[in-house]
Amino acid sequence: MKSVSPRALLLGALLLGPSASMLALADDHIDVIDQATQVEMTPDQALQRLVEGNARFVAGNSTDRDLIAEQKATAGGQYPFAVVLSCLDSRSAPEIVFDQGVGDLFVGRVAGNVVDTNLLGSFEFATAAAGSKLIVVMGHTACGAVKGACDGVEVGNLTALLDEIEPAIDAVNTPTGTDRSSANIEFVNRVVETNVEMQVNELLRRSDVVRGLVEEGKVKVVGAVHDLSTGEVRFL
Ligand SMILES: [Zn+2]
Repeated sequence: MKSVSPRALLLGALLLGPSASMLALADDHIDVIDQATQVEMTPDQALQRLVEGNARFVAGNSTDRDLIAEQKATAGGQYPFAVVLSCLDSRSAPEIVFDQGVGDLFVGRVAGNVVDTNLLGSFEFATAAAGSKLIVVMGHTACGAVKGACDGVEVGNLTALLDEIEPAIDAVNTPTGTDRSSANIEFVNRVVETNVEMQVNELLRRSDVVRGLVEEGKVKVVGAVHDLSTGEVRFL
């Protein structure tokens, strides 16, 4: 079991700032997450919130938000209930696909949604210091980064990034003669899902802090795949 260092808590306090008084000033109808709501929320409730938000998005019933009012209402502090690691892809923005507003989610984005030291540090801040209850690693169908990795694309710094997806490609077994290039979208999507599963494992393996919170039941880490053609997010 890992405990959060006083330094981490101090960092969290400095970054979050005192906010109860600020939130008290917020309009009653502005639905922003306050500290009590975040503290009382379980990891399963956080997941349910995302499931319901995605259902609203898919149904075309996304919340009609006063974003600038949410911005002002959260200026004194933030209590995001979940963290989402998603792809750089312009069509897979977590706040939109989960119908969340200002202050609801921490979001980390990188092509191919692969974890690295900086992202792990960010997620440790988001959970251990800032109190988020859920980490979602979200890939998406027809991912360009996964396609590039399948095709062995080598361009500048992208080469090293795509190498991170290589283990997922190797882990997907196919019958001899199967097309394993980006032309085979079914294969690409299998790699997408496998990559998500591997990144979840990688996150838990490399972050003692997050793993400790998971073992204590304070945080959950789940994988998901966002279908670009329907908007639906399928949790794994
Ligand atoms: Zn992508």
